[in-house]
Amino acid sequence: MQQKGKVFLVGAGPGKAGLLTMRGREVIDAADVVLYDQLAGEILSTLPSTAELIDCGKFGSRHTLEQAEIEDIMVARAEEGKRVVRLKGGDPFLFGRGGEELEVLRTHCLDVEVVPGVTSAIAVPACVGIPVTHRSHASQVTLVTGHEDPEKSESVIRWDLLGQMGGTLVILMGVKNLPLIVDALLKGGRAPVTPVAIIERGLTKDQRVVTGTLDTIVKTVVHDRVSPPAIIVIGDVVKMYEGENLCGP
Ligand code: SAH
Repeated sequence: MQQKGKVFLVGAGPGKAGLLTMRGREVIDAADVVLYDQLAGEILSTLPSTAELIDCGKFGSRHTLEQAEIEDIMVARAEEGKRVVRLKGGDPFLFGRGGEELEVLRTHCLDVEVVPGVTSAIAVPACVGIPVTHRSHASQVTLVTGHEDPEKSESVIRWDLLGQMGGTLVILMGVKNLPLIVDALLKGGRAPVTPVAIIERGLTKDQRVVTGTLDTIVKTVVHDRVSPPAIIVIGDVVKMYEGENLCGP
């Protein structure tokens, strides 16, 4: 009988090659197949030329098909006995559909290893000098997606309650819906003077940071044409921002 393959769900970290974990590097280097997302950043130029490299960012045109297609390939290659790396930006289980992929792999009784990654939700703010928690500013942090499944009939995210909560709010995929989000947070009771930072294309040569308050940020985003991918940080920890770049090479 043919040897069974294995699928590695690997987090590439926030984009810089040095922020990939050692286990991540190891399994990538030994892979027969790498299915990668564009968010994997710099790591993409270090993929082994001996492996079959599949760009999932440019797959098909319809989103649902895209995901099903990725899963089919992943399963098919593993069933052929290959070592398959599914490489995702940041951590594979934070808003990356890694959970769904694990379910599919379980359904097919395939061997799976998860290699966690450094999530952009924490690393991108960190690298511009914004710690997501700080004893004087925030003892809790909430990670939330600003882009829900469009098929959901109503929002499952209680933005009004998030507006009542203190602490830091880190929003991924939130640029497009920012006006609605800010509106809901203000209605929920978050103070208009709450500081906000948005880090666009964090840890890349195109990184840009815009700052403001809940009151001003929407105007700034429109004016400066902020576009995804970006991390939105809301809360007093943003007061720590001093315009530095604390990330190494
Ligand atoms: N699993 C990933 C997140 C996937 S969702 C992780 O743990 O980091 C994709 C979103 O992540 C983007 O829309 C953006 O909000 C955020 N993101 C990922 N990398 C980023 C980067 N380098 N700079 C800014 N935002 C980033």
